[in-house]
Amino acid sequence: MKKRILIIGACGQIGTELTMYLRDKFGNHKVIASDIREGDDELMESGPFEILDAMDYNAIEEIVIRHEISDVYLMAAMLSATAEKFPMKGWNLNMDSLFHVLNLAKEKKIKKIFWPSSIAVFGPSTPKQNTPQHTIMEPSTVYGISKQTGERWCEYYFNRYGVDVRSIRYPGLISYKTLPGGGTTDYAIDIYHKAIKHKKYTCFLNAETTLPMMFMDDAIKATVNIMEADSEKIKIRSAYNLAAMSFNPEEMTASIQKHIPKFKINYEPDFRQKIADSWPQSIDDTHARKDWGWESKIALDEMTEIMLRNLIEKY
Ligand code: NAD
Repeated sequence: MKKRILIIGACGQIGTELTMYLRDKFGNHKVIASDIREGDDELMESGPFEILDAMDYNAIEEIVIRHEISDVYLMAAMLSATAEKFPMKGWNLNMDSLFHVLNLAKEKKIKKIFWPSSIAVFGPSTPKQNTPQHTIMEPSTVYGISKQTGERWCEYYFNRYGVDVRSIRYPGLISYKTLPGGGTTDYAIDIYHKAIKHKKYTCFLNAETTLPMMFMDDAIKATVNIMEADSEKIKIRSAYNLAAMSFNPEEMTASIQKHIPKFKINYEPDFRQKIADSWPQSIDDTHARKDWGWESKIALDEMTEIMLRNLIEKY
């Protein structure tokens, strides 16, 4: 089977950049983007696009057969903050879409799956510092429960049916190309936009909330690297811990003030504070480094420089 890629949920924060990266790497016509809505001009004009509902098994199967798809990246999901508002909708989308893709692979209609997990699989009883790969996992959000359950099913489908599914527990991802999609780490993107536009920002988490984060370029490279690694190197078939940096809103403010000295932040924590408090502060990603050579490249100050430069250009 030749490599042809389908991205489901391609128009979101990760999917948009992932699609462009994969089109660059494998050729525009080999990467089919799909979503329930259209994406930005660059994505829509650079290669094939299909309107596709990740809840509709028959529609996914039809597109997989018509385009002779080998690899599926399933990026459609309801994120942490939004899923707390619509628990059953979040659960149904996050679980049904995963089962559809796992079952297509079980039936040998596709070869390989990437499905993202999250640091939200951890909960208040998990050790917060340098959180190990294997540890207590009692997530307290609908989103976290769906990701933890998803991880169990991925491992089950690998062990029971030999389904080649690969996954990463992404930390909060920061990027300038698309806006974030309703997660608890969204502040770390919004803050840059507001710093440029208004020189002030009201943060929905408190000053000391340290969370694991990653710049999008690192996340995209990790995603494609784990998918392209030899199968025998992927020893963990639930999901890999992955880390790049950890910081809190106060440290982020200091990083921005190096470029915009007048920038001011104030704090009005909302319901997302409780979600953030249940997550780790830093992650041990030894297994990803050892098994398939993961290495992060971008830290806070470099990320701030890239974010501000690109957003200033955009505005
Ligand atoms: P996003 O919300 O920005 O994008 C999701 C995309 O899925 C959107 O374009 C949306 O239109 C689409 N979608 C929603 N319902 C759909 C449906 N029924 N059928 C088809 N498409 C549908 O999310 P993202 O930030 O790009 O996240 C992608 C994946 O990565 C998710 O599984 C998310 O849980 C995971 N993740 C993201 C982060 C982060 O910081 N962004 C962190 C951890 C994990």
